Amino acid sequence: EGFLPFEHEPYFAFAQEEVAQQQREAYRMVRETYVGRTFPMYIGGQPVEGGETFEVRNPADTREVVWRFPGATPEQLEEAVAAAKAAFEEWRFSDPMQRATIFKRAAELLRARRMEFNAVMGLENGKNWAEADGEIAECVDHFEVFARETLKWAQGKPVYPVPGEHVTTVYEPIGVVAVISPWNFPAAIPLGMSLGAIAAGNTVVWKPASETPLSSLLLVELLFEAGLPRNVIQFLTGADDVLGDPLVDHKDVRMIAFTGSKEIGCRIMERAAKVQPGQRWLKRVMAEMGGKDPTVVCADGDVEAAAVGIVQAAFGYAGQKCSACSRVIAEDSVYDELLERVTALARGLKVGSPEENAALGPVIHEGSAQRIMAYVERGKGTARLVLGGERADSGEHEGGYLQPTIFADVDPKDPLFQEEIFGPVLSFTRARDWQHAIELANDSEYGLTAAFYSRDPAKIAEARRRIHVGNLYVNRKCTGALSGTHAFGGYGMSGTNAKVGGPDYLFWFLQTKTVAQRY
Ligand code: GLU
Repeated sequence: EGFLPFEHEPYFAFAQEEVAQQQREAYRMVRETYVGRTFPMYIGGQPVEGGETFEVRNPADTREVVWRFPGATPEQLEEAVAAAKAAFEEWRFSDPMQRATIFKRAAELLRARRMEFNAVMGLENGKNWAEADGEIAECVDHFEVFARETLKWAQGKPVYPVPGEHVTTVYEPIGVVAVISPWNFPAAIPLGMSLGAIAAGNTVVWKPASETPLSSLLLVELLFEAGLPRNVIQFLTGADDVLGDPLVDHKDVRMIAFTGSKEIGCRIMERAAKVQPGQRWLKRVMAEMGGKDPTVVCADGDVEAAAVGIVQAAFGYAGQKCSACSRVIAEDSVYDELLERVTALARGLKVGSPEENAALGPVIHEGSAQRIMAYVERGKGTARLVLGGERADSGEHEGGYLQPTIFADVDPKDPLFQEEIFGPVLSFTRARDWQHAIELANDSEYGLTAAFYSRDPAKIAEARRRIHVGNLYVNRKCTGALSGTHAFGGYGMSGTNAKVGGPDYLFWFLQTKTVAQRY
């Protein structure tokens, strides 16, 4: 395809003092240039103000308002959809190489600003340096991957010929795509969905989570700078009652690309099924939702490696990933040893401010902290608490700091085993044998990620066949999917299995035209 072979963006080595110093410097720069400002939305390429502005707070200390964003009005939603609809008439015919060039250029621009983007994210959603870095590196990967995918899908696919006809199968864009995204990956997730849309030739109305709009806005502006025609993405911030249902219901929206909770995903699916007056298509819905992701450890597995993987996957970003490990299922004979190793490692995690790169930062806000603590309090009555179980002392910081929490001997019927908690809470359940462990892993309405630790090829083969998830990781942790390599998306109530970063992702944003021509 003309580009050099794709390579994943390497992570920063923060253990080196000079690299750490650069990250601190980037925080200083972001505090100087961004904190206190009010940012715009974009409609038709123009920066616009909204009605009332809203505050974005730093989860590391919720007394601090870091910046403000406009609340879009219902009229602005109309304008944005109309602008996206108008822009589609040109962008749908854009040259795939032009799109690829924009993405390549955006990758270059972002490479030069990764530390700054890390710091912005840290101040909005409380990711520490490494977690933010993983996500921004994923954004660079997305640009590189989608540059290649846009060219790939532009080629169409061969069909079996008939005599006397020239037949082609080509992929065409579909229209206006509404992108609705969560706060836990405020850069990589909406960027993946938006690039999917625009790489296919669609236009976008992008609604970021209200907790984390700047991480999204900076990417939109970066794309403009890279040469994306400025009317291709509309960027609207504000309240869900103005931008949620009305955007999903809008007759001129062709597709909704959503990542977030199961509850909202189901709601979108249902509302989008209704054909609105004047609507001339059946809406497409991509809904990527939650997880209750298991790590299975067999008696013959590497317990030490499993313990390290479990702690990273369960407590990285305080467990606020749909890919996070929230259930450990261990065979009887290794259960106690594994529990002890995991507990020891988790006890060593330092709780503190993400800006100072603590291992375990705050959860996103007070409401979330309270919801998580309700699970913990209830769990104290139904399972054996072995670590944590309280709010953590965060010194002079005011925020949702929670202790890393582990429950043992959790019954499969317990909410601790079945419900997505989205916090630093891990449950252990004992399995009679490895087959029973696989059964327990599948005892969930979700099916996003799973990890399986064993050295036995026959057990691994069985796990590969039977574990009902979209992303199965053998002898490694269940978080940290890489764009272009670990196509990401789940089974069951984890969503529509759209597989962002994978070889078929663009198909979601395209329709297929057969042209059979006789001369
Ligand atoms: N893609 C991320 C990972 O593999 C998870 C995304 C999410 O949690 O929403 O860890």
